[in-house]
Amino acid sequence: MAECIFCKIVAGEIPAVKVYEDELVFAFLDIGPINPGHVLVIPKEHHESSATIPEATAGRMFRVGARIGTALRRALDYEAFNLHLADGTAAGQVVMHAHLHVVPRGVEDGFHWNWRQLRYADGECAEIAKKIIARLDMTGKSR
Ligand code: AMP
Ligand code: ZN
Repeated sequence: MAECIFCKIVAGEIPAVKVYEDELVFAFLDIGPINPGHVLVIPKEHHESSATIPEATAGRMFRVGARIGTALRRALDYEAFNLHLADGTAAGQVVMHAHLHVVPRGVEDGFHWNWRQLRYADGECAEIAKKIIARLDMTGKSR
């Protein structure tokens, strides 16, 4: 995609600090890290949504993200890492080329996910699961 900044990074048209590349994926440092060493793993092919990324590439993204997380622990003395992907603007996606964040974490790094835990009413769980199952399309051809 001509105007996509991450496609331009893959093509070498704008600079990025690369940490890994293979035939399917490209990984580089996030310019605004949650912690130093925060990496983005992207498919080389342009996909706005994670839902249309072919299985081999999606699997590679996860594998590379997890191995980079391990490298961050070894190289920079982190204790843990988060893998995070925002799919869609409402979920916080700003760059519309799918990307997996690898966020290195320490126990006292001062960063907290603002996580909440709602409760289901009686029977609501089953209803919701039924709706999801009815619309689940594993072909990955559409969003
Ligand atoms: P998201 O909110 O999940 O779409 O995240 C987009 C991420 O891309 C942010 O964490 C940005 O800091 C990062 N980002 C944007 N432009 C660049 C760039 N040119 N090089 C590296 N990281 C970038
Ligand atoms: Zn792109």
